[in-house]
Amino acid sequence: MAFESLSDRLQGAVQTMGKKGKITEGDLKEMMREVRLALLEADVNFKVVKDFVKRVNERALNSEVLQSLSPAQQVVKIVNDELTDLMGGEHVDIQYATTPPTVIMMAGLQGAGKTTTVGKLANFLKKNDHKKPLLVAGDIYRPAAINQLQTLGQQLDIPVFTLGDQVSPVEIAKQAVEHAKLQGYDLVFIDTAGRLQIDERLMTELKDIKVAVQPNEILLTVDSMTGQEAANVAKAFDEELDVTGVVLTKLDGDTRGGAALSIVSVTGKPIKFTGTGEKLTEIERFYPDRMSNRILGMGDMLTLIEKAQAEFDENEAEAMAAKMRENTYDFNDFIKQMDQMNNMGPLKDIIKLIPGMSKLGNLDQLNIDPKQMAHTKAIIQSMTPYERENPDSINQSRRRRIANGSASTVQEVNRLIKQFNESRKMMSAMTNGNMGALQNMMGG
Ligand code: GDP
Repeated sequence: MAFESLSDRLQGAVQTMGKKGKITEGDLKEMMREVRLALLEADVNFKVVKDFVKRVNERALNSEVLQSLSPAQQVVKIVNDELTDLMGGEHVDIQYATTPPTVIMMAGLQGAGKTTTVGKLANFLKKNDHKKPLLVAGDIYRPAAINQLQTLGQQLDIPVFTLGDQVSPVEIAKQAVEHAKLQGYDLVFIDTAGRLQIDERLMTELKDIKVAVQPNEILLTVDSMTGQEAANVAKAFDEELDVTGVVLTKLDGDTRGGAALSIVSVTGKPIKFTGTGEKLTEIERFYPDRMSNRILGMGDMLTLIEKAQAEFDENEAEAMAAKMRENTYDFNDFIKQMDQMNNMGPLKDIIKLIPGMSKLGNLDQLNIDPKQMAHTKAIIQSMTPYERENPDSINQSRRRRIANGSASTVQEVNRLIKQFNESRKMMSAMTNGNMGALQNMMGG
């Protein structure tokens, strides 16, 4: 999870303060020292840290805070507010064109995750904002770039526009936008070339594309794992291109968080989205206040609810509830729910979104073993369609056949069916409002 060490240190500082009924200027100084160290260790830009600490100090030293009934909470609130401001304050969304298509140009260094982000973001906006996207293969230099985008397009069922690698990227971009207008696409993503380092030729090409298609958004992908270097890269790109926003990738691998905390101050441009994993569903809108809450261990219920909503369609959820009530929930439903849970991301990261849970420690043990999951799936897939729909029909000889078919033991099949039956009973009890039965079942 992102910000792990910063989060630990800040929460430590906050907890020590929280135990005190009254705090002195000395206590505050001690805490601010911790906060300063925590931010520097997180690889936040030195000047940004200095300004941050100064602002928190000024607000906290205000006599009303120290004299108040809950000075520690007040200071935490100030830190929370200032962290939120540091990351941009409010969430800034994609600005759609009043007359479609909206053209989004993507820029970034090679390896930052630009092409992956094109796919993730197009898919996200297709699902959440009901857009009809077109991906444009504008990187004609890296041999595999066009193929990579086409593969992404196939995986996501989103069309890709390409003119091969013999036509100039400016021409490709222009023709793609025309194509989108004619074919009724309302969102055009232009993938552009990246380089290992910023150079003159790259910038000239990007500026030419910008002039040619007048994009509504120029989104810069930066790799958060590069820490404050990410902020420097963003600044350099922004000076040339005047970007409209940043997508911070690989936040899942960034335990420090320096990029997220420096970028907005250094560039003045909002972080609009974050990439949180290699899977194509692992992208989130960036909300500074929610991120600040997470860093301070206060949980993030809103993100949790949104993740669940994105995976669980309302009608489908209603149908599932009916099946649970009527006890017709079967192995097909079971496998579908397993996949949906899986798409929401690692369980330990989901749990942390619940307020207070990050303090429990040892959440790493909560990970569902992907091997175990694949094994469970294999058992279910060895059942016949009839058996999946009629779990009660699975007698001893059927169990033996299923075990053979999935390279498992009969005991393993028995265990899965037992678990399935228990959860079915529990779900039926819950959806029927029969909490007494539920308590009996749980030995309460
Ligand atoms: P490009 O050269 O900028 O187009 O970069 P790619 O899109 O090819 O991505 C480079 C690598 O970063 C690939 O292995 C991606 O799977 C990986 N990647 C991209 N975004 C994320 C992310 O948010 N989290 C993680 N863990 N990996 C990512």
